[in-house]
Formats: sequence, structure tokens, C-alpha cells
Amino acid sequence: DLHIASVTKLFGETSVLKGVTLDVKDGEFISLVGPSGCGKSTLLRIIAGLETPTTGTIAIGGADVTQLRAADRNLSMVFQSYALYPHLTVAENIAVPLQMRQMTALQRLPLLGGLLPSARAQAGDIAQAVSHAAQILEIAPLLDRKPGQLSGGQRQRVALGRALVRDPAAFLLDEPLSNLDAKLRVQTRTEIAELHRRLQATFIYVTHDQVEAMTMSDRIAVMMGGEILQCAPPDVIYEDPDDIRVAEFIGSPK
Ligand code: ATP
Ligand code: MG
Repeated sequence: DLHIASVTKLFGETSVLKGVTLDVKDGEFISLVGPSGCGKSTLLRIIAGLETPTTGTIAIGGADVTQLRAADRNLSMVFQSYALYPHLTVAENIAVPLQMRQMTALQRLPLLGGLLPSARAQAGDIAQAVSHAAQILEIAPLLDRKPGQLSGGQRQRVALGRALVRDPAAFLLDEPLSNLDAKLRVQTRTEIAELHRRLQATFIYVTHDQVEAMTMSDRIAVMMGGEILQCAPPDVIYEDPDDIRVAEFIGSPK
């Protein structure tokens, strides 16, 4: 499980996160919603290790990872922009996290002599992991293309593929569908829900789309002004919000 404890973040004098505590169970799908600027991306980046909290801790599976680099946290983050490398093929883009992991492992080896056979074995493992991810996301025919030769939805799936190969403890998705047109959004939303069902993996999913949050999530965390006001199943958030600001944001009947 993922344990976020009393996380604060100051940018200069500005308090962007004001003590966020959230426990995410293994396999849970949590949507993070809230007005623009409330701190959703900052929180996700802190969980991923791309930003350090001012105070507070992040623990994964009982281990405190607050001081670990992003590459050592075994979490996969997918950005709104997809952040693919334009000069690499789809297959190479998907392989990037595994290549990096392999390079880190090689750097730790004291002698160059013993590593060549294992490096070859790893290359085979990487190819297999890439092809497996491509199969799940139905992009196997696109593996030799460059990102510039793909549609938005296809690029999005490549970004998901790159997240998938790491076999992460959790997926952190920051508005991954916001660049897609309405039809593709619905389709990709279904694919992400299916991916969650298949992998039984933990997802934290930032979205502006309430329908997405309502239909995909085990729980919705409503964030405002650097705090989580309520984190509860969709029906509770909608029918029984425990804060007037949650009710107003969600547009509940109350
Ligand atoms: P949106 O829905 O628009 O993506 P968000 O909830 O993801 O918003 P954040 O990106 O987390 O919001 O930003 C929260 C606040 O922190 C904003 O006021 C933003 O201007 C500020 N902020 C974010 N990153 C930095 C930074 N590196 N330096 C200074 N301020 C920052
Ligand atoms: Mg954001």
C-alpha cells in the first residue's frame, strides 16, 4: 500500500500543500479531483519522487521512500503531454525505463568482465517486456514507428506502455486523456479501467472530468487549496459530502 503522511510543500513563501494524508490500498483506483492550482500535480510529483516534500513522508509497502530518487521508487507516472522521445521508435520509448534500470545495475557492478552475458540476457528480457506491453495495449503493429507518426490516442497508449513495463507498485496518471477528443477519451477511459481490472494495480488518477472520476474510481479524493477535503467512494462523495465545498465542487444535490 501507499501511505502519504502529513505532506506539505512550500514554493518560496507559498504553501501549496498544507498537510496531505492519504492511504491507498493495493489495487485501489483513486481519482484526485479539485480546482486548477489546488496542488494535484504537485502531490503526484511528490509521490513519484520528482519533487521533495517540505515536510511529511511517503511510504510504499511499509518502506519509507521519501529520500529515494524517482528511479528507485518503482512507480510509473504518465503525464498529460505523454513526454515521448521524438527520435526514438515506439519500442525504444517503451523500453526506456528498463534500459535505465539496467544501466543503473551495470554501474553498480565492480568489474566489466562478468557483465556481458547478463547484459545480453537482459536485452532479451527487455524485448519480451516491450512486446508484452504492446500486446496488452494493442500497439504491437506500431512498434517501429516514431511518435510523430502516431495519433494522439496511440501516443497516449505508448506512454501507458512505458508505464506498464516497469511493473510498478502504482500508476500515477496526471490528466492523461486531456489532449484527446471526446470520442477517444471515452474509449481510452474504458481501456484504462480495463487495464486496472486486468493488472489489479494501484492507480492514482488526476482528472478534471467528473464523469471519469465517478465511473472509474474506488474512491475519489477531493482536493482544494492544498488539502484533501474528503476521500470516499463516488456515491458517498456525491450523496453524502461532509464538507460544503465538496458538495459545491461536485455539484451534489445537498
Ligand atoms: P491544474 O488542475 O491546473 O493542473 P494542479 O492542481 O495540478 O492544477 P499544481 O500544478 O499542483 O496544481 O500547482 C499548485 C500551485 O503550486 C499553483 O498555484 C502553482 O502555481 C504552484 N506551483 C507549482 N509548481 C511550482 C513551482 N515549481 N514553483 C512555484 N510554484 C509552483
Ligand atoms: Mg495539474
